[in-house]
Amino acid sequence: MEIKAIKVSGKHQVSIENTSIEADENECLVKITRGGICGSDIHYYQHGGVGDFSLQHPMTLGHEVIGRLYPSNQTVAVNPSKPCGACEYCQSGRSNQCLKMEFFGSAMRNPHVDGGFAEYVKVTKDQVVPYDETMSQEVMAFAEPLAVAIHAVNQSGGVVGKKVLVTGCGPIGCLIVAACQAAGASEVVGSDLSERCRDIATAMGATSVLSPMDTVPDLYLKEKGYFDVSFEASGAVPAFHSCIDMTKAAGALVLVGMRPGMVDFPLTKCLAKEINVKGSFRFISEFETAVRWLETGKINPLPLLTKVFPFTDIIEALDLAADKSKAMKIQLSFED
Ligand SMILES: [Zn+2]
Ligand SMILES: [Zn+2]
Repeated sequence: MEIKAIKVSGKHQVSIENTSIEADENECLVKITRGGICGSDIHYYQHGGVGDFSLQHPMTLGHEVIGRLYPSNQTVAVNPSKPCGACEYCQSGRSNQCLKMEFFGSAMRNPHVDGGFAEYVKVTKDQVVPYDETMSQEVMAFAEPLAVAIHAVNQSGGVVGKKVLVTGCGPIGCLIVAACQAAGASEVVGSDLSERCRDIATAMGATSVLSPMDTVPDLYLKEKGYFDVSFEASGAVPAFHSCIDMTKAAGALVLVGMRPGMVDFPLTKCLAKEINVKGSFRFISEFETAVRWLETGKINPLPLLTKVFPFTDIIEALDLAADKSKAMKIQLSFED
């Protein structure tokens, strides 16, 4: 089948290319309807790579996509992860750590795994999660980032009745705020440098918000801290220090935000406060959970949506998505 796909071939080299795909008997084709632009897509566009992984050949961008199964037309969210199912991590229920993971739109492996910003994608049957076709595309296209957020909440060991801090209120931080509220936290405080991000965190359910530039309320710092669980979703070193300071002794700190050079780790305090530092990377079964939470209205992600572009306006869409002063989540529409 001949299709158009959004390819990145290097720094500032993104274009719509004609390509062909063929599904074998174990695969199915999904006609993509909507896709969200994520930080990693912006990195490939701006830097030709993400972290240590730079592009070796052209790759289709995108991993936050939904569509319709071909030819049945069933509406589906597409899980961008294809774990091998056989390695020690897959066998022990940690498929997000799969040694042979093929993740949409990632240059981590070579050859790279093509992403979902295309008219059609081919996936295994395990990768499609059907959803109610009366749901709006703009809501359901949040399934993948919401799965990341729910996985982070699960990594914390649970938030029921707990006081929660989220530093970094971008799309993932805000979805963590909403997921913590939905999961029964008693209080969720969002922290971000940007007033616009703080306002969106409030719209997503934060009990209160704070700016790291303002004086931190004494309540959060006195004795051994205030929050039972902190989520660091900014990747900024000062935010990490704030989390350590404001998290109670024996509390949990989940690291979700990534940024190059985030190495300044306050080891002594972590040790003395017996903080449980947990990483959080992608998701496992949380993808299905995210689809259900969106479908049932348990989470409303729409305060995060800035604008929808036709996929043919990809450059304009990427430029706006990269402007953190204006954009939260940008989506692409693949329907004519
Ligand atoms: Zn993403
Ligand atoms: Zn595996």
